Amino acid sequence: MKIQILSDEMASRIAAGEVVERPASVVKELVENSLDAGATEIFVSIEKSGTSLVQVSDNGDGMAAEDLILAVERHATSKLKVEEDLFRIATLGFRGEALPSIGSVSKMQIVSRPLNAPTGQKLSIDGGRKDELRPTAASMGTTIDIKDIFYNTPARRKFLKSPATELSHICDVVNRMALAHHEVHFRLQHDGRTVADYVSVNDAKDRLYQVFGREIANGLAALLWRQGELEVHGFLSVAPASFPNARYLYTFVNRRYVRDKVLTHAVIQGYETLLMKGQYPAVVLFLEIPFDEVDVNVHPAKYEVRFRRQSEIHEAVSRAIRHALKQEAREPSARNTVISPLPLSGVREAALPYGEFHGTAHSESQPIRPAVFAPPPSVTAGQDGFYSSMRVLGQILGCYLVCVSPRGLALIDQHAAHERVAFERLRRQMNAGHVEKQSLLMPQSVDLSAGEMMLLEERLEVLERFGFSLEPFGPGAYAITAAPALLPEGDYSQVVRQMVADLAEVDNSGKLRAHLEDRLATIACHSVIRANRILEMDEMRALLRALDDIDFATQCPHGRPVLVEISREELERMFKRVV
Ligand code: ADP
Ligand code: MG
Repeated sequence: MKIQILSDEMASRIAAGEVVERPASVVKELVENSLDAGATEIFVSIEKSGTSLVQVSDNGDGMAAEDLILAVERHATSKLKVEEDLFRIATLGFRGEALPSIGSVSKMQIVSRPLNAPTGQKLSIDGGRKDELRPTAASMGTTIDIKDIFYNTPARRKFLKSPATELSHICDVVNRMALAHHEVHFRLQHDGRTVADYVSVNDAKDRLYQVFGREIANGLAALLWRQGELEVHGFLSVAPASFPNARYLYTFVNRRYVRDKVLTHAVIQGYETLLMKGQYPAVVLFLEIPFDEVDVNVHPAKYEVRFRRQSEIHEAVSRAIRHALKQEAREPSARNTVISPLPLSGVREAALPYGEFHGTAHSESQPIRPAVFAPPPSVTAGQDGFYSSMRVLGQILGCYLVCVSPRGLALIDQHAAHERVAFERLRRQMNAGHVEKQSLLMPQSVDLSAGEMMLLEERLEVLERFGFSLEPFGPGAYAITAAPALLPEGDYSQVVRQMVADLAEVDNSGKLRAHLEDRLATIACHSVIRANRILEMDEMRALLRALDDIDFATQCPHGRPVLVEISREELERMFKRVV
């Protein structure tokens, strides 16, 4: 016989894989249970990014002895009674899977005491094996300790990412729950230090300040839209605030955090043309719909949902967003400031390192004179002296240099060239491991979430290598005290924030490097002179020399060509000298 029925222990370990992926999933499940138990205080304490300990304690309903014994059995739940309940789920949990699953891959201890019980009860489970129930002193509520997660499933342990990444996942989980339950006091401690402490607040907006910090929270306007039984409320960033990823886009359905394509799409569509392609807004969106309109039983972790009336929901959310944005445009609410859009808008003109570019502008461009001599053959772009060996004829349309190249006629896009030069110089410094820094006269503060604070603290040296110096600046903030000297002066807080987001998302150091370089490419591109500028002859020559001095001079950092050549053959074809 080949077929065997798996032991209960094996079966729960397999099932555990779906619910418990990493320490953050444990935090999610336990905090959800605390919320379902009506807790108003939920304290999470972790050690070693959750790998050695996750402890969640709450002041909720607690469990009586007989319930506690059952709670750790599979498919044991107090939240579903009859089958119909499955189609009107109002609690965060209902599958009765979390506790047994977690208990099968860790050393778990539950201490619980319901109201009116004379003492608490303690239950320990080690790798799925239950110990006896013991009375113990306890205050009202429940405290669950999860030690050494995955100690008996080494394969899973191997899939864990760096401590900083695991930690940031945990912070994300706590932040999401905290956003949806501003009336609950959340505290997160890591290795004995308080990372987040969000006291209970009356106004959901105040929770935004606790979670996101002033800088982002200030830029968010309120949103409210009702349509039949459906309500959309929350907060949204008003243009031009936008971010390079969906990191600040939170969607909740009946206070459950979900990642749903329909909702995300509806939000983005609501912004219409206010967002550039690839940019995301900051949105905290709550959708409240009748419980029987949504199926949350799609996946064990319940991050996905299915709507009964998907297109109506999409339409309503888009409308809600559009409506709020229009209203905001008409009568801006009491937001103090709007977050600045991209790294360096509204910054003074780039102080490029080669001062020649700052000569006074001519009122007229140089006239184009015909080429009179044949250029040296066999020199191509990328070779030494290619650009400086060209003869500059002049500048046209305020943005192209017209030159004689070895092959014929060369046109150079001066923006693309400037961008490339600024970026390559910066990159050269990055490669040499020494980005020249410039101290800022006025340190700039960056408000960071708890998770971002942790990440930054652990990996300060990465930003240091990219030319940014930061120092702790009170709770929930860092101050930027120096920035790469090659960058123009400006507001660096956005770019630093983006780089911190990269630290959280990218674990692999090669990829991280590529990401951060990309950020700097963007700044380099944004930092060069945008407006069309008439260049003097010696400025143009200086630009050509600068191009020779760098690698990859044929494209701007975003891939636009710097140089377009028209060869003798092409010219001859144009003039029909040859066919
Ligand atoms: P589910 O949440 O899907 O019901 P769980 O395995 O997460 O399943 O929890 C099982 C049961 O244990 C819950 O239904 C609840 O009755 C009880 N429980 C778990 N955690 C707590 C808590 N912190 N406070 C009170 N009861 C709890
Ligand atoms: Mg649960």
